[in-house]
Amino acid sequence: MTRLLHRAIRGTMPVAIGGAGITLNDADGKSYIDASGGAAVSCLGHGHPDVIAALHRQADRLAYAHTGFFTSEPAEALAERLIEDAPPGISHVYLVSGGSEAVEAALKMARQYFVEKGEPQRRHIIARRQSYHGNTLGALAAGGNELRRAQFKPLLIETHHIDPCYAYRLQKPGESDQAYAARAAQQLEDKIIELGPDQVIAFVAETVVGATAGAVPPVADYLARIRSICDRYGILLILDEVMCGMGRTGTLHACTQDGVAPDLMTLAKGLGAGYQPIGAVLLSQHIFDAFAGGSGFFQHGHTYMGHPMAAAAALAVQDVIRRDNLLANVAAIGAELDRRLQERFADHRHVGDIRGRGLFRGLELVADRATKQTFNPALKLHARVKQAAMAHGLMVYAMGGTIDGRHGDHVLLAPPFIVTRADIEVIVERLGAAIDDAIASIPAPAGV
Ligand code: PMP
Repeated sequence: MTRLLHRAIRGTMPVAIGGAGITLNDADGKSYIDASGGAAVSCLGHGHPDVIAALHRQADRLAYAHTGFFTSEPAEALAERLIEDAPPGISHVYLVSGGSEAVEAALKMARQYFVEKGEPQRRHIIARRQSYHGNTLGALAAGGNELRRAQFKPLLIETHHIDPCYAYRLQKPGESDQAYAARAAQQLEDKIIELGPDQVIAFVAETVVGATAGAVPPVADYLARIRSICDRYGILLILDEVMCGMGRTGTLHACTQDGVAPDLMTLAKGLGAGYQPIGAVLLSQHIFDAFAGGSGFFQHGHTYMGHPMAAAAALAVQDVIRRDNLLANVAAIGAELDRRLQERFADHRHVGDIRGRGLFRGLELVADRATKQTFNPALKLHARVKQAAMAHGLMVYAMGGTIDGRHGDHVLLAPPFIVTRADIEVIVERLGAAIDDAIASIPAPAGV
């Protein structure tokens, strides 16, 4: 019997009791390789002694002080660190407790920015289909995952969605990346013109799409075109790097690889690596100036923002990543992970696409490779893969996403940055076994 709602509804689940490095252990003595960092969270793995020591030190000094009364040393130091390494133009940090809170704050900051500038008529948010920005109402409204939104639609603020940049399904045969980037980005310009350029607040996108599609990076040039369209119409660009940011793709910020800097950026997950709940909004100087020169106040706040324990954990995580040069490992081992995935799955009849950057890699599962036909959603193949992987002692983030109005299946890998080449070999071997077991468990004929 359990009183925890999510478990009572889901049924049996192992009880996690400890972990070390890339492994988590349950109460029955079974261990699991954490090949997804939970949901791309545990970027330092489990039980990291330096982070634990930092948490002890902070708990001994100060656990909590409300930001309405005090600032704190760890919050100040973390903000300083985040700005040191931020994309060009970013000047300030707003610390919150997670990804959804960061997205909510970014959306409200964008709206208040235009109020401060004397443009209160601006009210539209544009985002993309097949994206996820969080489960609170504002973030859910921005997201484009129909399954997660459907029953809450009457409660959601009006948002507008364009197609994602999703080469596997939306790039035409023979179309160059440049031509596809131009065509995909053009949808943003068309939408801005349709809504009226002086009515739009911001465009929101995940730099590399995570939870709804399984590590889908933009094609070359796409984000640069998006940036210039936003600039042309004076619209803010919000990049949501809650999942793909803080080193996951091999650079601290995923957008660096696209040569683009946003006006606002959201971070969470890898920021605190799961040692504490924490998220952040990075904002650019011109947004700060509008607030400073206007009301002097951002009309927002949460009880736990700038939490000293959370900030201390995040700072310790970021110190370890820098000290141990772990981003170089993400790039090198990420390339090895890609190579191994290609080797194992390039000819697999139910793996349609292998994609991603760094240690953020996705597989898309299809019933038929030639037609890219998805499996019947009722089969819940992604859930079968997750379950089979757990049986093989492997954690992967397997989800269903909405693809062309249908429910598709994908598997996301996001192992800790400390993973080795030998670990990668075991991960790919177990994943292969799990996918094959999951497909074998489908009642014949396997298919749509
Ligand atoms: N944005 C993105 C891109 C995410 O992947 C997530 C979480 N999967 C969120 C926002 C929401 O973060 P949280 O679950 O911490 O509220």
